Amino acid sequence: MQLDVRDVSFAYGQRLALQGVSFTVQSGRLNALLGPNGAGKSTLMALFSRLYRLQQGDILLGELSIRRQPRQALRQLGVVFQQSTLDLDLSVRQNLAYHAALHGLSRRQAAPRIESELQRQGLLERQHEQVRQLNGGHRRRVEIARALLHEPKILLLDEPSVGLDQASRLALNQHIRLLCAERGLTVVWTTHLLDEIQAEDPVVVLHQGRILAENSAAELVHSS
Ligand code: ADP
Ligand code: ADP
Repeated sequence: MQLDVRDVSFAYGQRLALQGVSFTVQSGRLNALLGPNGAGKSTLMALFSRLYRLQQGDILLGELSIRRQPRQALRQLGVVFQQSTLDLDLSVRQNLAYHAALHGLSRRQAAPRIESELQRQGLLERQHEQVRQLNGGHRRRVEIARALLHEPKILLLDEPSVGLDQASRLALNQHIRLLCAERGLTVVWTTHLLDEIQAEDPVVVLHQGRILAENSAAELVHSS
């Protein structure tokens, strides 16, 4: 599913965080949202997930407008925030079950989805371990499993690499690419690290609340 950002501006009081931002996220790919600290990446993520209300512009998920059809639009989205919200004392499976219950799934509905997500994220063997016992890379996978439980078409990852070592970072990046290829998932991956981006990836470069460039990574390097 394609995601279109159309002329979005956002201010915290007097402080402009996004200024007329427009770009298109490509379906079934890992799209990199690149930008230094303060660029506006987290603000955009908060608008995508409706944590903040749009002040100006609109965001379209396929045909669905976040402004006009917020509930339906939100159902197409899975989000992994920078700060983990997993319950460290619960097991992997319990975290997923809790989340499903929170979103109104009956146990009968939830069980097969939990099972298949555990499997897809390579977590079956760890499902009964406390999240506390997992390393950072595996915790991220639990968050991804949780974000995909309601089978959204688009997955947003806000700086998923923060706190991971180089090997886990790149393993996670590979894993996400596999999800795109196997499930046709559309991914927005925000980062400021270039080694997480491959030549053919669509890239959006955000700087001080504006789009600096939008192209494949290879083209961006070529034209700079
Ligand atoms: P990034 O995620 O790329 O680091 P942010 O979206 O967090 O960027 O920040 C964009 C701009 O908005 C920055 O200038 C930042 O200082 C400002 N900002 C972010 N959050 C707030 C807030 N809660 N109140 C005021 N200004 C904020
Ligand atoms: P509505 O009340 O308008 O039908 P909801 O936003 O309550 O829409 O969600 C409807 C269904 O979508 C839920 O019963 C659940 O199956 C699924 N769902 C939505 N968001 C999530 C989520 N983040 N995690 C798991 N399931 C979700």
